[in-house]
Amino acid sequence: MADTWKARTKAVHAGSRRSQYGELSEAIFLTQGFVYDSAEAAEARFIEAGPDEFIYARYGNPTIAMFEDRIAAIEGTEAAFATASGMAAVSGALTAMLRAGDHVVSSRALFGSCLYVLEEVLTRYGVEVTFVNGTDLAQWEEAVRPGTKAVFLESLSNPTLEVIDIAAVAKIAHAAGALVLVDNVFATPVFSRAVEQGADVVIYSATKHIDGQGRALGGVICGTHDFIRKTVEPYMKHTGGSMSPFTAWMMLKGLETLDLRVRAQAETATKLAEALEGHDRLTRVIYPGLASHPQYALAKAQMEAGGTVLSLEIDGGQAAAFRFLNALEIVKISNNLGDAKSIATHPATTTHQRLPDDQKRTLGITPGLVRLSVGLEDADDLLADISKALGMI
Ligand SMILES: *Cc1c(COP(=O)(O)O)cnc(C)c1O
Repeated sequence: MADTWKARTKAVHAGSRRSQYGELSEAIFLTQGFVYDSAEAAEARFIEAGPDEFIYARYGNPTIAMFEDRIAAIEGTEAAFATASGMAAVSGALTAMLRAGDHVVSSRALFGSCLYVLEEVLTRYGVEVTFVNGTDLAQWEEAVRPGTKAVFLESLSNPTLEVIDIAAVAKIAHAAGALVLVDNVFATPVFSRAVEQGADVVIYSATKHIDGQGRALGGVICGTHDFIRKTVEPYMKHTGGSMSPFTAWMMLKGLETLDLRVRAQAETATKLAEALEGHDRLTRVIYPGLASHPQYALAKAQMEAGGTVLSLEIDGGQAAAFRFLNALEIVKISNNLGDAKSIATHPATTTHQRLPDDQKRTLGITPGLVRLSVGLEDADDLLADISKALGMI
């Protein structure tokens, strides 16, 4: 692969491995095991496996390796490790590198399961976690201390789409010797510049935009060769959170169209946000690509585009939000995102139901808030569907 290739070329070709048949489309190696030519060869491989030598699918497999190499090439990291889900990636990256007595600083506005891992799981094993308001750099400054091992953040928060300044947080973290782990799902590999901005480890739930068609769970941890091979791989390969070869094949094919899909989705999201802003049934339209977004300049500098998700605050609270959701026809009520199908979610009663009311309030998860993941449908059809539903509340 040429290093000079642009992301779209890498997304189609990087990491490809061909069997003796010279197949054009990537092969699915549905095999857990590999045969050695001799006992000596088996022994040698267990001492040190080369990049194209495999032992057991939990450790690695040619189809999984193609996916890992391709996403690493797109993301601009030396290596990647594919996992069974986004949460296997988040929990794996953190658990692999932390031990009792370590200190972590994390933004509080997190995907529910990420919050669970940091707040409930890591602390159970003696890791101290400090939560901050991720958009307030003074809080990061105060919380990060010498000996802080990691900072964790979602570059674009769910569901209120706050932008965290990766470069500024990385500067604070690196001064203390901490690694910066970024859950970059909402920014997508297409719009992300996380590594350039100072992220050491970038994590994706591949379930979202990378598959993009709602078929399978998957995740990936991208980082330096040392972090992936010496820290993540030993932990993941022995604890069982690896991706399946079949899923890796789907994700690999997903990467080929990722750029086209995400750009089309973001273009429609922008159109919808612009058309809906100021609607008399909405108290707020939140989209990082709108000039009215409180961090518009940062979003533009950090992400190239506003992403594929917007949030609408419906006037009239939960009852009005439910009437709106129930009146939608094209947009489905569900909780995935990054999918070809547009999806509306009511965070307060579903994805964030578990949070106490005061935390929901702090995070801006109001009863009227609806998260809209914009799909690949025609933008005018979507706008008509949403406008009609807003007219019925
Ligand atoms: C979905 C998601 C995850 C978890 O991914 P799964 O594939 O569902 O395990 C983690 N972080 C963010 C920001 C997500 O949106």
